[in-house]
Amino acid sequence: MNKTLEEQRRQLPAYAVRQNILNCIQTSSTLILIGETGSGKSTQIPQFILESGMLNKGMVGITQPRRVAAITLSKRVSQEKMRQLGDVVGYAVRFENCTSENTKIKYMTEGILLREALNDRFLKKYQYIILDEAHERTVNTDVLFGIVKSIQKERSMFRMQELKIIIMSATMDVDHFSKYFNNCTVLYMPGRMHQVQVMHSKHRQDDYMFATLVTLFEIHRTAPLHHDVLVFLTGKDEIESMTSQIRNITRSHDLAGQPPLRAWPLHSALPAQRQLEAFQRSGENYRRVVVATNIAETSITLPGIKYVIDTGVVKTRKFDPITGLDSLKVTKISQAQAWQRTGRAGRESDGICYRTYTANEYDLFEKMTKPEILRCNLSSTILQLLALGINIETFDFMDKPPRDSIEVAFKQLKQLGAIKSVQNPQLTETGHRMSKFPIDPIYSKIIISSPKFECVNDILDLVAILSTENVYCEPNQNNRDQATAQHSKFQTRYGDHLTLLNIFTEYKKHNKSKQWCTEHFLNQKSLQYAFEVRQQLAEICDNVNVSSQADSPHHNVDQIRKCLITGLFNNVAELQQRDNHYIVMANRQRAMIHPSSVLSGYHANLNGFSSSSNGNGIISNMGNKLKDAHNQKANYVLFSEIVHTTQVYLRTATRIEPEWIQEVVPDCGYASRINNNQL
Ligand code: ADP
Repeated sequence: MNKTLEEQRRQLPAYAVRQNILNCIQTSSTLILIGETGSGKSTQIPQFILESGMLNKGMVGITQPRRVAAITLSKRVSQEKMRQLGDVVGYAVRFENCTSENTKIKYMTEGILLREALNDRFLKKYQYIILDEAHERTVNTDVLFGIVKSIQKERSMFRMQELKIIIMSATMDVDHFSKYFNNCTVLYMPGRMHQVQVMHSKHRQDDYMFATLVTLFEIHRTAPLHHDVLVFLTGKDEIESMTSQIRNITRSHDLAGQPPLRAWPLHSALPAQRQLEAFQRSGENYRRVVVATNIAETSITLPGIKYVIDTGVVKTRKFDPITGLDSLKVTKISQAQAWQRTGRAGRESDGICYRTYTANEYDLFEKMTKPEILRCNLSSTILQLLALGINIETFDFMDKPPRDSIEVAFKQLKQLGAIKSVQNPQLTETGHRMSKFPIDPIYSKIIISSPKFECVNDILDLVAILSTENVYCEPNQNNRDQATAQHSKFQTRYGDHLTLLNIFTEYKKHNKSKQWCTEHFLNQKSLQYAFEVRQQLAEICDNVNVSSQADSPHHNVDQIRKCLITGLFNNVAELQQRDNHYIVMANRQRAMIHPSSVLSGYHANLNGFSSSSNGNGIISNMGNKLKDAHNQKANYVLFSEIVHTTQVYLRTATRIEPEWIQEVVPDCGYASRINNNQL
């Protein structure tokens, strides 16, 4: 087995030019390395450095835009090195560290390296830093570019050990990158490991979900067993719908003589463990279809995949510079992304990529993905940069974010109490404390505010459970009613946040029992993950003096909801009695509550626990002045997320009282409007 792995290594295009790569690394302080996907960049370059003896002190750190890539790459490389994961080769992702004193090659997400820079301003641990998949241009990649570039300069100025930087990708705007890195060396690695044939749709497809199903079942009808398929869709809802359609078709049609077809979802809302299941090929007699978001687009190798179906769409975060609200929108991918997706079919052998769009449509795609820093809310990034003592005005961005977005971020940070003023963006005491949490400033503010509302423990539970989306298990058709009945036990008319809190409280009360989760159609792995996140958040709370000493002994639903407003004040919407739509206060956008929400009106059977009192730990519908208005739609809600699909939806919503806005965030800009309209 290990011999084979070694043989596989030697066949990679990177191996053929190993010495040339090492020479370039030795002679250049910064190197841009371009090579086809699958040529061995991510797995081999760190090993070459280690094996060459060029690593005398410190580590090779290699960043990935996604956690699943960091984990699977480190697993693969530790296998290749015949060492246990976490020994010479390890990984670190948010809330999870699998490294040891022996670790020499560390795969990590970009966010981790950024956080490390907060505690070690010269990143002294590292002799080599490899920024992989640089073409993705996530906000973190762009910020890291500036940070490592300046650390390299400073280390040289202070005569510290040289920091070598390697930037890697399959596709990038080389001139732009090289110019930014002081006209550094660019090395093109020749060779492609495997061929991938690209097939475009002949006609424009109006319904890519349908086109995908047709293509998939055609592949299934004709392809040899064990030739697996990877499908790219935009998000969790689509993926769930696709996997259940695949199951239904497979079940209800006589696919005579064909092997079973099994579908696996892969998206970022799944906990890491569930994501990794999509990577396991058990070798049984079935065909596997992995239905993924762009999480599977770069860096990863899904064993067995021979076919890719690319729908040409992706859900991206878009930012409204007027209000500072981010929203998720379905957009066309870039040509660079299309090639990354294509590359997934040729990781282990030749493959085929079916694009459900025409060649003409492809020509109209943008060449490169627009850097995220030009289209996203920057408050989280700016908070971190400020904590690093960086002046945003003079920071060396590869592409400077628009003035508007910087100002909106300052404004938001000011509203959150993290900076002194927009004109003088220095971190306040609160801002410093907020920056210690590896989460969005909205939520770190909520945590920091929680002692005042005497609900630290509840808020920690809530923030932890919000960090893992897939709390509910997808029931199959036979047990759907049963699952709904079980889930309704946790529901409260206050909304989704408190419903989630009920689930987490009960989970803990039942000793995190797997059986209890199964009986209640809840995802134990997600809840366990939330539990671990909670522990880490609690540790940070200890370090920044957020104390739960004054916590009220029972859930105080009003206080918890008020505390949520301290961070989520821009995510407040008002019901329009006329047409039952909501209007987001901050930008006057029309939206509906997501059908999955407790407040959407689809959940008639609210709160099976209503007979239990608050003292039992479960939040019931009763005991509040609103109890007589049991079925009334919420006049005001706050929400965690806004999603654009066929409709604009508010996801994870909670009922609030209008007067709380004035009480909690009187300066939010729309408080007076609410008071005037007050019902
Ligand atoms: P690149 O970074 O150039 O896209 P990688 O170094 O990630 O290439 O991968 C090189 C090859 O190593 C892949 O084509 C695949 O054959 C193999 N490989 C990488 N990761 C894994 C994995 N987790 N499981 C199985 N094979 C893998």
